Amino acid sequence: MLTLNHVTKRYGRFTAVDDLSFEVKAGEIFGFLGPNGAGKTTTMKMITGLVRPTSGQILVGGLDVVKAPVETKAQVGYIPDRPYLHDRLTALEYLYFIAGLYGMSRADAARGAAEMLALFELVHKADDLVESFSHGMKQRLVMASVLLHRPKLLVVDEPMVGLDPRGALRLKAILRSQAEDHGVAILLSTHTLEVAEAVCDRVGILHHGQLVVQGDPASLHEEHPSEALKMNLEAIFLQLTDEEGISLK
Ligand code: ATP
Repeated sequence: MLTLNHVTKRYGRFTAVDDLSFEVKAGEIFGFLGPNGAGKTTTMKMITGLVRPTSGQILVGGLDVVKAPVETKAQVGYIPDRPYLHDRLTALEYLYFIAGLYGMSRADAARGAAEMLALFELVHKADDLVESFSHGMKQRLVMASVLLHRPKLLVVDEPMVGLDPRGALRLKAILRSQAEDHGVAILLSTHTLEVAEAVCDRVGILHHGQLVVQGDPASLHEEHPSEALKMNLEAIFLQLTDEEGISLK
């Protein structure tokens, strides 16, 4: 569903993403890990068409995001790390506004909005202004708006930030259900390694714009054994992104 072929992004002389290639298949959740500044957000912005790659190719559903920007955007749902919501709209108005952007019919918008408000437990807030929402409620509304047009690829930047345990659990369940029940491909960036281990089928660790490792969480443990009896993903992450110079074995 998502393919990156040798994608590079330079800002002036600085290389933020460096010859990056990977795939996310339909129904798969790929966890994108990496320290601050590794290039995760830049990669996600290129996939969603907000930033143009310097070189390389990004395919969504077989279509090039640079050559077919409208068609690919129609298949993608993007949750940025700092989503923007219109405070002076009610939750329902906001969902209708987003439905309009995707060219959904009134009937589809009404059906979809009702379904999403129920899924994210926001039915009782449908007619309240967004400005009255807590952070967690805003997160849920953003997620609802992103799923409204039934994207085939979800790109989610740091989704768990600020969610309470129940909110985080609900979101994990919804992401798994989107992948398993609806065949959605999901690229998820997170600093929360527990989330990566719990939710992702595969993880990749990005460092200085390159994937230094990728695989399913269990096989990473086998490939990167430590002297410690049990090495968790956090230890692997810290070892592979250690600026001091590290050995992979
Ligand atoms: P974090 O975990 O902190 O969100 P990240 O992995 O998402 O980090 P990016 O936001 O992709 O990292 O940034 C990668 C690098 O590219 C950083 O060094 C950043 O300063 C640089 N960068 C990002 N956007 C720009 C820009 N518009 N102009 C110049 N440099 C940029």
